[in-house]
Amino acid sequence: MDEFESIRRYWLPLGEPPCDGLVRGIGDDCSELSIPPGQNLLQSIDTLVSGTHFPADIHPVDLGWRAMAVSASDLAACGAKPWNVLLALTLPTPDQSWLAGFARGLGESSRLYGLPVVGGDTTRGPLTITLQVQGLCPPGQSLTRSGARPGDLICVSGTLGDAGEALRWLGSPGSSAAAVSAVCQRFLRPTPRLSLGMALRQKATACIDVSDGLLADLGHILAASQVGANLDLAALPLSQPLKTLAGTRALELGLTAGDDYELCFTWPERAGNPDQLCRDGIPISVIGVIESQPGVRFSNPPDGWEAPKNLGYQHFTA
Ligand SMILES: [Mg+2]
Repeated sequence: MDEFESIRRYWLPLGEPPCDGLVRGIGDDCSELSIPPGQNLLQSIDTLVSGTHFPADIHPVDLGWRAMAVSASDLAACGAKPWNVLLALTLPTPDQSWLAGFARGLGESSRLYGLPVVGGDTTRGPLTITLQVQGLCPPGQSLTRSGARPGDLICVSGTLGDAGEALRWLGSPGSSAAAVSAVCQRFLRPTPRLSLGMALRQKATACIDVSDGLLADLGHILAASQVGANLDLAALPLSQPLKTLAGTRALELGLTAGDDYELCFTWPERAGNPDQLCRDGIPISVIGVIESQPGVRFSNPPDGWEAPKNLGYQHFTA
């Protein structure tokens, strides 16, 4: 199959239904888009490398799903409405069944999250996927990392640590327990919190998506906002499947494991009860408070608990 047949078969369908403002999409030297009036353009680009960001033997449908969801999560973190996406795919061999699976996963998630593909490129080489997502937000309303102020509540959506635990189980045959499939699903098909991100516009003072672990990502908010934090370890949202599988390691995974793609945001008390932000049954947990003193302090540690010493934590020491 030549490049043009491959574009026609796998990539053109990913442009449907087209996004608002599309002048021309896949198949020309450039795509051309007219930015809807009253909106700013937000862009983010992410690269996933086989063996680094995902196990080399991951199913192609899951890989397509995960790539789209991970990229969309950056739009959620900024409060942007998904608009469209550009795809660059490098793969070792043009394996038709792999391509069909990858395009299927990508297409299902792109339609679910409202991110039609407007252009791209495929080349031969080690398996690498790059997606550039583009979103829209009215001027002055997007979320940043730099607005957290002392007294703001620190909140997180969903549960943390599940995807980190999944890395122990992915690809291990025979692990069909419900708890295992629950955490693996969280790694393979993370849910970008897009409607939550948009609901946080003009309310949350700072926001980030948890891709590298809570301590590392909250650390970016603290550094950009020049503040510190007190975290209530008893309030960290840990799922039952994670507690079942990880036992006493669950808390550390919740603090330091990445890949969950929940939103961590700071919320001024004047904005009311953060419970108003619950969407689709996804809980919002208040896990701490912003303080003026730099660094992170921990409340309610379990007996004998020691603060994690990995890289995410080093960044914090006051
Ligand atoms: Mg991010």
